[in-house]
Amino acid sequence: MEQPIAVTRQSFDDWMVPVYAPADFILVRGEGSQVWDQQGKSYIDFAGGIAVNALGHAHPVVTAALVEQAGKLWHLGNGYTNEPVLRLAKQLIDATFADKVFFCNSGAEANEAALKLARKRALDQGNSSKNQIVAFNNAFHGRTLFTVSAGGQPKYSKDFAPLPGGITHTPFNDLAAAADVINDNTCAVIVEPIQGEGGVLPADPPFLQGLRELCDRHDAVLIFDEVQTGMGRTGDLYAYMQYGVVPDVLTTAKALGCGFPIGAMLTTDELAKTLGVGTHGTTYGGNPLATAVAGAVFSIINTPEVLDGVKQRHQWFLDGLNKINQQYPIFSEIRGGGLLIGCQLTKDYAGKAKQITQLANEEGVIALIAGPDVVRFTPSLIIPEQDVKEGLARFARAVARICS
Ligand SMILES: *Cc1c(COP(=O)(O)O)cnc(C)c1O
Repeated sequence: MEQPIAVTRQSFDDWMVPVYAPADFILVRGEGSQVWDQQGKSYIDFAGGIAVNALGHAHPVVTAALVEQAGKLWHLGNGYTNEPVLRLAKQLIDATFADKVFFCNSGAEANEAALKLARKRALDQGNSSKNQIVAFNNAFHGRTLFTVSAGGQPKYSKDFAPLPGGITHTPFNDLAAAADVINDNTCAVIVEPIQGEGGVLPADPPFLQGLRELCDRHDAVLIFDEVQTGMGRTGDLYAYMQYGVVPDVLTTAKALGCGFPIGAMLTTDELAKTLGVGTHGTTYGGNPLATAVAGAVFSIINTPEVLDGVKQRHQWFLDGLNKINQQYPIFSEIRGGGLLIGCQLTKDYAGKAKQITQLANEEGVIALIAGPDVVRFTPSLIIPEQDVKEGLARFARAVARICS
């Protein structure tokens, strides 16, 4: 056997398109909520691959589903359907408002499908001026040109002009501002129930309720981007269930595959008709390997044990973080829902979120940022109490260092 190519962190800088600046170590193995690097150092994983590894690493049931399907059938192309995709569709439909599902490979693609659906629906109705999309400042919807334009962080889109038109942004949680721009020419409103990348900012319930009413009044499609909040992250299967506001279209990805790439757009019978044969598609969407994995993931997450466990773990994190904050007051607010938690840094520590996560790495814990001023935690939904305690102890040491 040929020796594998020797790789170090330097190899990244040598060979990779430099769109990322990864940490200065390379992780090689994970189990549950622990990961190990090339040198054998252990880390507690409070990031979960950015809200993806909702059942931690190498979950035995998910791994078994992957291995079993890998020996059977990987891919067919969409001229042929398959059993795992149909079973997963039924699981999602039975558990949500949706009647129909479209599968793809990522969150951006799910949002792309949702926005295309909304545009085409209005056009099919014969209304060529009903093409306006309303989105929110600081939102994140993915990196395709359409979704990055719908996102509300111009730093991610401005370099790629000309951008798709017809998208208006208003301040998040400002219903009056939204009401000013939503009218009969609006085909869609897209919103995250909790803005994830934008800083872990939960929507106020009346804001989502108000958007629902405005969409009803003006016959616009209400799209909830639940790519980050979805699949148990907030303690309900989807965050819309907590808010009691039902969208017309819901997009989901990240935790759906627990690390195997998959995304989905859920919608109603009526809206699904818009995307008839040949109007949209993707080579890999709904392939048997991805959907077999997601089916196993879904069966585990959509149980009272796991969903109630998220609420319990939320409290463990809150208690631990509040205690750290009493000793070293660096957070002005700890917010979010379930296991999507954001810690807003005080003015004194503004801009230091990245530095704090780097120190956390040195202490053996992996955390995320959500912008320069927010430290974010999105661990496995089944992280053991012992790992939460140990990880927070390591995080406290990182905080102590930034404060000294
Ligand atoms: C991560 C994310 C996306 C993009 O998903 P990709 O799989 O990276 O394309 C879209 N919306 C939200 C809310 C996200 O958190």
